[in-house]
Amino acid sequence: MSPAVLPVVTRFAPSPTGLLHLGSAYSALVAWTRAREAGGRFLVRIEDTDVRRCRRDYETAILQDLKWLGLNWDGEVRRQSDHFSDYGHELDRLSRRGLVYPCFCSRAKIAREIAASAAAPHGPSVGPDGPLYPGTCRDLTPAERKRRIAAGREFCMRLDSARAAAAVGPYDFVDEDRGRIAGQPLLMGDFVIARKDTPISYHLAVTVDDHLQGVSLVTRGEDILPSTHAHVLLQRLQGYATPLYAHHGLIADPTGRRLAKRDKDLTIRSLRESGVGPEEVRRRALAAVGRQA
Ligand code: GLU
Repeated sequence: MSPAVLPVVTRFAPSPTGLLHLGSAYSALVAWTRAREAGGRFLVRIEDTDVRRCRRDYETAILQDLKWLGLNWDGEVRRQSDHFSDYGHELDRLSRRGLVYPCFCSRAKIAREIAASAAAPHGPSVGPDGPLYPGTCRDLTPAERKRRIAAGREFCMRLDSARAAAAVGPYDFVDEDRGRIAGQPLLMGDFVIARKDTPISYHLAVTVDDHLQGVSLVTRGEDILPSTHAHVLLQRLQGYATPLYAHHGLIADPTGRRLAKRDKDLTIRSLRESGVGPEEVRRRALAAVGRQA
């Protein structure tokens, strides 16, 4: 008897903060192709945890553009803002284990603390996106936390990454192109697990959803690779299986400059309006990957 083979389940998880552009279309194309080649499932998930920046009309437009590109998905689209209770439940589990703490710092306060630590012998700890949260609220006493919450102070919840690392021990994950990668639990510092305005953060929602949706292969841009260290850490804490990862190259223009969402002429909408067909858009997306030096 042949060994059981897990079905390939991939997903495309756009944040509806703008129109679908060539870079995201490439991500969708990779996930769709991998699922279809394997006779697996291709899921679409709307990551709208940032309720101030996400818009329903962008969501509608993204789904229309995927259809136009011929990237049909399986099952219902999952919208994260419809599932706050799932994430709240996971947050409670982490909270009961003493792995998260409330953080009352404003952005300005964090910037001041980081600036002050620049003069200290070791300077601030720096992560992939710049200086990490300096841990100001990590050691507040339970009484002080209660006092601030009772006083109506706003707070987000952060993961105590050193405690989380100790709870999990050494871990790793596999990226198809890069091989086995040793997890770096402190890479993202004490990252936000639940935002001030919603009971979730991108990191928590991604791990909960990939688990609940049975995603077995996560394909996404290599710019998100640092976050994968945090996601696998959360998976281990929560007892979830770790999927296989494939971080792909990013779209660049012919000079090698990375394209961003602000390159409006590269939205699928504008390419479509200028008379380019879906096959040609797919060809252009494939051709524009990996041009960087
Ligand atoms: N929502 C993320 C984005 O639009 C993608 C996250 C992921 O693939 O895990 O960049």
